[in-house]
Amino acid sequence: MHKIYLDNAATTPLTDEVIAAMVDSMKTFGNPSSTHSFGQEAKTLIENVRRLIAEALKVSPGEIIFTSCGTESNNMIIKSCVRNLGVERIITSPMEHKCVAETIQEMKNKDKVEVVYLRPDKNGDIPLDKLEEVLKSSDKKTLVSLMHANNEIGNLLDIEKVAEICRENGALFHSDTVQTVAHLDLDFSKIPLDFASCSAHKFHGPKGAGFAFIRKSSGLKPLITGGGQERSLRAGTENVSGIVGMGKALERGLEKMKEYVAHIQEIKRYAIDEIKAAIPNVQFNGHSADMEKSLYTLVNLRLPFFEPMIGMKLDMKGIAVSQGSACSSGASKPSMVMMMLLDDEEMKTTTPLRISFSHSTTKADIDALVVALKEIAAGR
Ligand code: PLP
Repeated sequence: MHKIYLDNAATTPLTDEVIAAMVDSMKTFGNPSSTHSFGQEAKTLIENVRRLIAEALKVSPGEIIFTSCGTESNNMIIKSCVRNLGVERIITSPMEHKCVAETIQEMKNKDKVEVVYLRPDKNGDIPLDKLEEVLKSSDKKTLVSLMHANNEIGNLLDIEKVAEICRENGALFHSDTVQTVAHLDLDFSKIPLDFASCSAHKFHGPKGAGFAFIRKSSGLKPLITGGGQERSLRAGTENVSGIVGMGKALERGLEKMKEYVAHIQEIKRYAIDEIKAAIPNVQFNGHSADMEKSLYTLVNLRLPFFEPMIGMKLDMKGIAVSQGSACSSGASKPSMVMMMLLDDEEMKTTTPLRISFSHSTTKADIDALVVALKEIAAGR
């Protein structure tokens, strides 16, 4: 059976050139912390990637700390803000990825941090006037943690505006940029945010490699201790081949961004049109059908019937999609995001489905999905 992959927001396939770069780098086996030439060769490999990332984001290389993934980066930033920078209050939203949401919950339960949740509106938008109001209501040291693009519905946050609001009100700002690094042009010299996170496997790089952007002036401390690696901010011998793979994937993603964006936007428009034509009364969650207000790499449908097994049924037809975010895709429980957006009636009578694209997705893939959805709808 020809299999179709439409779950690129969960993870993306490695390209051949990323695999080749990684395999090649494995021959450079030295420990980057060793001062001899074997070590220094490995060190050069990772420092080249650090420079590439820093140039792309318009920050300095010392502000890029390699980690194992987006989850680790988010954990490190949030926990250290509380435990080392004296943050007493976190303002966030109920729409964050679990690795942010659960870390903040832990800070609330164990570290007695005050947490304020900004309730999104029916479209999943975070009210920025409310953010300002809450920021002005207390002079407790505050961290604002709001994601750039929502991984389930794709809603985009104006992080430039949020960063300015935070700066004006003396708050730190962390944004989970896992779904946007290498997909959108990010210039952190213009966006005054303090912290951001990245995961290589979201843009055709390997799993097990990511980074945290930590603004130099922040004073963050490590989550993992035991060595001086990563300017003492993340102990542990670096994952050299993972970092090289991340660098290659980022390099290609940036170089081809215009071409990839144009292709994927066309695929997304096509998917929306074809699904609308095939499934009467289909709706879209959040802003995901709005090309301006949502990330071009995904669309989140609301099918007009209740089919909790939709993911499995599509998988049996060779099509991989997601019913929730990657972490909860195997779970039948609705995600927090869907619980915020849908009322009880919609929960019982409709089915959310996330379809996410890459530069290798084709219109034929979408046609196959539409046929499969029609069959599932008809067979009910
Ligand atoms: N944040 C967002 C928005 C994500 O989509 C994901 C992955 O699904 C993560 C964080 C976690 O990243 P990682 O899989 O690298 O731990």
